[in-house]
Amino acid sequence: MKLTACALTDVGLRRSNNEDSVFADINSGLFIVADGMGGHAAGEVASCMAVETICQQLPALEAAVDPATCLQEAFICASRSIRQVAAAETIKKGMGTTLSVLYIAGDSVHLAHVGDSRIYRLRRTKLEQLSIDHSLVAEQMRQGIISPEEARTSQLRNILLQAVGLEDKVDVFLLRQPLRDGDLFLLCSDGLSDMLDDEQICSILRQEHSVERTARALVEAAKAAGGRDNIGVVVVKNSNSED
Ligand code: CA
Repeated sequence: MKLTACALTDVGLRRSNNEDSVFADINSGLFIVADGMGGHAAGEVASCMAVETICQQLPALEAAVDPATCLQEAFICASRSIRQVAAAETIKKGMGTTLSVLYIAGDSVHLAHVGDSRIYRLRRTKLEQLSIDHSLVAEQMRQGIISPEEARTSQLRNILLQAVGLEDKVDVFLLRQPLRDGDLFLLCSDGLSDMLDDEQICSILRQEHSVERTARALVEAAKAAGGRDNIGVVVVKNSNSED
C-alpha cells in the first residue's frame, strides 16, 4: 500500500466565505470533507469543529478493534460539540455540517458519512459513489417519485435530511470495503458534484495525473461550470504495488 493524497478547497465564484473544511493525512490514513451551514460564518465553525473532533479521535480509532463503532461515536461527539457551541451563542443557532470520512487501515477502507457531500471510488475505469446522499431529492429518487434529471434541477436539492450538529443523535452511514491496488478515492462537497456530473468527474479522475493535479483540475472544472458554491475535494490514491 502506497498512499498519496491532496486536499483542496476553494471559495468558488459566487460566495464570499468558504464553509468547506478538508483534511488529508496519508500517515494515519484519515481523510475528511465537511460542508458547513448556518449564517454569520457559523457554517465555517461547524465544519471546522467536525474535522477537529474526528482528528482528535484518531488515537482511539487506531487502537479500535472495530473502527466503524469508533467512527460512529466520533460523529456523535462532533454533533454534541457543535450543538453546545450553537446553544451558547445565539448567532450560531442552527449551524450544522455534512461530514464524510474515509479511514484506510491495512487492507480495509472504512467510510462514515452524514449529509450530501460524497465519497466516490474509481476502480480501474469504473466510478462508483460509495456514500449515499442524505438529501430530500435523493430520498425521492430512491422512492421513484422523481427522476435523476429532476433531482439535478429541483429547487429542493439543497434540503438535507441529516446533518451533524442539528441533533445529538445522528444516523451515520457506515461502510467497509476492501482496499485494492490502484483504487482512487474522491471526497467532495456539493460545490463539486452540483457543478459536474459523474461522467465529468470520472473523466478527470481517469487522466492519471498526480493527486495534486487531479484535485486542482476538479476545482478548476467546477469553477469553469459556474462555481456557484464552495468547492472542497480530497483525492486519495493507493498506487499499484508494482509501480
Ligand atoms: Ca456546499
